Amino acid sequence: MQKLLVVSNLKKYFPVRRNLKEFFSPSYIKAVDDISFDVMKGEFFGLVGESGCGKSTTGLILAGLLRPTSGKIVFNGTDITFTKLKGDMRRKIQMVFQNPFSSLNPRMRVGELVLEGIIIHNLLPKSRLQERLAQILEDVGLGMEFSERYPDELSGGQRQRVCVARAIALEPEFLVADEPTSSLDVSVRAQILELFEKIRRKFGTSIFFITHDIHTVKTYADRFAVMYLGKIVEIGKKDEIFSSPAHPYTKMLLSSVPDFDRVIEEGRYDLRGIQGEPPSPLNPPSGCRFRTRCPYADSLCEKQEPELKKITETHFSACHFWNKIV
Ligand code: SF4
Repeated sequence: MQKLLVVSNLKKYFPVRRNLKEFFSPSYIKAVDDISFDVMKGEFFGLVGESGCGKSTTGLILAGLLRPTSGKIVFNGTDITFTKLKGDMRRKIQMVFQNPFSSLNPRMRVGELVLEGIIIHNLLPKSRLQERLAQILEDVGLGMEFSERYPDELSGGQRQRVCVARAIALEPEFLVADEPTSSLDVSVRAQILELFEKIRRKFGTSIFFITHDIHTVKTYADRFAVMYLGKIVEIGKKDEIFSSPAHPYTKMLLSSVPDFDRVIEEGRYDLRGIQGEPPSPLNPPSGCRFRTRCPYADSLCEKQEPELKKITETHFSACHFWNKIV
């Protein structure tokens, strides 16, 4: 597989100015703090972590909707780090947001919403728009009978399908999906997830899937990264991480929603789930940021920040003691 996106040492710091002193010398929330990873062409890549860990900020930066503080983002060989995405590049990178209720203009019909991007980018002559609309609505599991409806006449799952339809209408190469199933009923989550997989298979689109639920990535992701307080703490192929998690935080995420089949089969997971609250990103712990919640923490963890270390060719962990916990 070829690399589509290469992210190096990406940082996003937000200044905090709560008083006069901080006005001149602000503190910083380090929402994304020096992360690096690649996404391959046609890959389903997951980014997993609790709320506030920086995963949505990462998604917004990759979609060109937020400027990073520093680092480098190369898309298909082009450095887009500080570029305002326009024209063809804007079309190639699309985003689907968490809340389909606020993502759609309530005064526009489904057909207008889906075709809006095609018309703005002048991708098709007027005579072919209806044919293309029918094709896109079919791809997302909605028929042409939906084209005249307004968003408030749709269910949550149908609205999210319209959001996906708007994104794929532009035939993107890279699709950032920020918790696209979390505001939906459990019964439709699997259908929307299957829809992203269908798009990946049919169009070869790379899917960057952001979620707080590690089990969401279990079915479709090729690889995923786990993020904690602005840092990537583990990254690898899905099967490697699920069978041999190499970071205590990943183990906690896995046990927070127990996979009962595996628990019964192997008796391996710690069913205590995630312990405590994450510390403030304004004042993260010294050394390893996870040490205040880690059952394996040692004095070394306080003094030295662990780097992502290679465990196998494709599996990396940022834990001093990864080999003791696997
Ligand atoms: Fe826990 Fe130490 Fe590993 Fe951090 S480096 S995850 S504190 S054992």
